[in-house]
Amino acid sequence: MQSKQLEIHAIPAYGDNYIWLLTAGGTACAVVDPGDEEPVLEELEKRGLDLRYILLTHHHPDHTGGVDALLEKYDASVFGPDDKRIRCPQQICAEGDLVSLPELGVAFRTIEVPAHTSSHIAFYGANVLFCGDTLFSIGCGRLFEGSAAEMQSSLDRLAALPGETLVYCAHEYTQSNCAFALAVEPGNAVLQCRAAEVDRLRAADKMTLPVTLAAELAANPFLRTRKPAVIEAARNIDPAASPGAGVMSIIRAWKDHF
Ligand SMILES: [Zn+2]
Repeated sequence: MQSKQLEIHAIPAYGDNYIWLLTAGGTACAVVDPGDEEPVLEELEKRGLDLRYILLTHHHPDHTGGVDALLEKYDASVFGPDDKRIRCPQQICAEGDLVSLPELGVAFRTIEVPAHTSSHIAFYGANVLFCGDTLFSIGCGRLFEGSAAEMQSSLDRLAALPGETLVYCAHEYTQSNCAFALAVEPGNAVLQCRAAEVDRLRAADKMTLPVTLAAELAANPFLRTRKPAVIEAARNIDPAASPGAGVMSIIRAWKDHF
C-alpha cells in the first residue's frame, strides 16, 4: 500500500518518551505507544484529529498507560503484541502480520523483537520503523526479559531493513548513549560526528530523531558487535567474548553500569 502524505509528529511525554503521532492530511490519525493520555488528548484537540488507531510495541506502562483513557474518548483500534499484561481489547500482532491503516494510506509489518520484553514487537512500513525500546539511537533497550543472544538476534532483524529506513525510537536517550558509545569505540569518526550533532541539537532543545538505519549501523555499538573495534573493547573486559551475542552481553552489561 502506498503512503499518502504520511506525517509523523512527536508528542513528548514523561520527560524523555516520544509518543509518535501519524497523520496523512485528513482528520484520521494513529499514535504509537501512548504512555500518557494527557499530552495526546491535548495534541489531538489542538490539531482537530480523530484517533483511529493505537499501536503498541510492548506492555510497559510508559508505553501503554494512556490507552484506556484514549479509548474512553475515541473509537480507536488497538494493535499490539500477544501479552496478557496488555489488558485493553486489542488485535494481536504476530511476526509478519500486516497492520493496515487505510485512512492513513499505510500498512506496517510486524517484526517480533524479544529481549527488552519477551513479547516486544516493532512496526515497519512506508520506510519507517517504530521500534519501541528495542533499538535506540546509538543504543538499545535493557535486557529485562531476554538474553543478550535474543537482543542480538532482534537487532540483527532490524539491521537487515533498508538503510534509508527512518528509525523512530520511543525515548530521547541519544546524548547519554553517545557518551557510552564513545567509550566503546572512541576512534569511530561517524560516531564522533553524530555525538557532536546530538550535542548541538540538545543544546537547542531539539530532538535527535528520527535517524536513518544506515547512520545507526555506522555508529551504534549494539549494531556493531561483529566489528573489530567493538570486539576489541569487549575483549578488554572478557578476552573470551565471541563476536555477536558474546560482545552484546559484555557491552550491554557495561552500559548498565556506565
Ligand atoms: Zn520499555
